[in-house]
Amino acid sequence: MKLFQFFNPKRNKFSYKCPCCGQVYDEMPLCFGGEYPDYYFSVPPEERATRIELTESLCVVDEEHFFHRGRITIPIHDHSEDLIFNVWTSISKENFAIRNSMWNDPERVHNKPYFGWLQTLVPTYGNTLNLKTQAREQEIGLIPSIEIIEENHPLTLDQRNGISLVTATKKVEAILREYHNPDN
Ligand SMILES: [Zn+2]
Repeated sequence: MKLFQFFNPKRNKFSYKCPCCGQVYDEMPLCFGGEYPDYYFSVPPEERATRIELTESLCVVDEEHFFHRGRITIPIHDHSEDLIFNVWTSISKENFAIRNSMWNDPERVHNKPYFGWLQTLVPTYGNTLNLKTQAREQEIGLIPSIEIIEENHPLTLDQRNGISLVTATKKVEAILREYHNPDN
């Protein structure tokens, strides 16, 4: 099933057209993400430069609140690709130190998972801030995989059980509608 895909003669292949605005993508986008941990926004904009240390995947606020970026994967049953959300979670000072010291150590995949609180609003899942998570180290070059461990939350269940392509398509459509019409 190729929902919302059409054959694009200019490229001689199927493309995905956003149902809300007609924007054309090579394929239906399945990867979304947040740029900052939610806590970032609790710091007034004029204080961020002095109070926040931010890299692509790590964030420290006031040298006492630690965050890192990871990846939530939701399997799509009848599709070759998964639905991906790149998110931020909190991480303890101790585990943050471990992450940094083992940044280039392939043995890190054997580390125990790091507990954290979700710091990203995952679109289409309501309020997901502060859900319980654990982060598992991946191979060098990859951000940790984030497992939602909050009991009975829809995100926990979808991550565990997977979703259909129809459900995934509805989610993507809702997310794009929000991204493309930020004022609505
Ligand atoms: Zn659109």
